[in-house]
Amino acid sequence: MNDPIDKFPIFIPSITSIKNYHNYFELVNIVLDSNITAFMLSALDIACYFKNEFERVEKIIKKANEKIIFLDSGGFEKYNIPYYRKQWEIQDLISIAEKINPQIIVAFDIISNRYKNNHFKDLDFFKNTLELAEGIINVKKKFEVIIHSFNIEKIFLYLQKFKEYDEFIYAIGIPERNLGESFRIRVVHLKQISNFIKNSLNWHSVHLHLFGCSDPSNMIEYSKNGVDIFDGVHWQDLIINPLNRCFLDYSNLLKINCNCRYCLEYKKLIKENHNNEEKYYNFYAINHNLEFYRNIWG
Ligand SMILES: [Zn+2]
Repeated sequence: MNDPIDKFPIFIPSITSIKNYHNYFELVNIVLDSNITAFMLSALDIACYFKNEFERVEKIIKKANEKIIFLDSGGFEKYNIPYYRKQWEIQDLISIAEKINPQIIVAFDIISNRYKNNHFKDLDFFKNTLELAEGIINVKKKFEVIIHSFNIEKIFLYLQKFKEYDEFIYAIGIPERNLGESFRIRVVHLKQISNFIKNSLNWHSVHLHLFGCSDPSNMIEYSKNGVDIFDGVHWQDLIINPLNRCFLDYSNLLKINCNCRYCLEYKKLIKENHNNEEKYYNFYAINHNLEFYRNIWG
């Protein structure tokens, strides 16, 4: 299977209804109209919130056309939000995957807090992840494995267990917050994981994906230490100031005085429409953010 993405590092906007339910479809459409290469949808969102609106989801898929879709499994919600615990099974994910036809499925992940103090239940974890692997192999998709462990040795152990599936593994995903409490420790761990993937497992085409990292300055540093793929959700409700790469709320869109094509258009629009700023926040703020990431990683 060829790599559907040809340039790395890459930022993948993650679209989740948890942050933006009311504007979900507007948000998705802005992303689809932009020139980003790839984005991530949640299978659980589609299954739970849009089960009676599947035509809208079909339109999204059609419009996505050549963009790369990462389909998030909903594993995190299953283990961390009691409401979903009993309702979300691997077969549900597979059935959404068959409808959406994503290029990459992001696999079920380990429960985070319960395992924090090394009280690992390896069997539970492997049961879920390997069952999913089997399911994904049946629908012939590449998948990503998210490992929620806080223990670097355990991460290596888990990775070794996936050796037999290596032709299907597209990326290894690690949540940024699991890598350590300081930036220095996180960088050290990333280097170790990246070396292990390349040198011990010989997975030269398997990517390293850092989950939940959309801070531009940190992304630049992490990318020097082996990270290929980043995703995050802040871009959905905050704007990035290009001068200091800090996040601010939407009301600062004029104040940051950005001259990207969206901000220039926004300024013109506000002038013509008697300063009715709020009405236009969403569209321009989101496009400003996507343009910002594209200017770094494009
Ligand atoms: Zn801008």
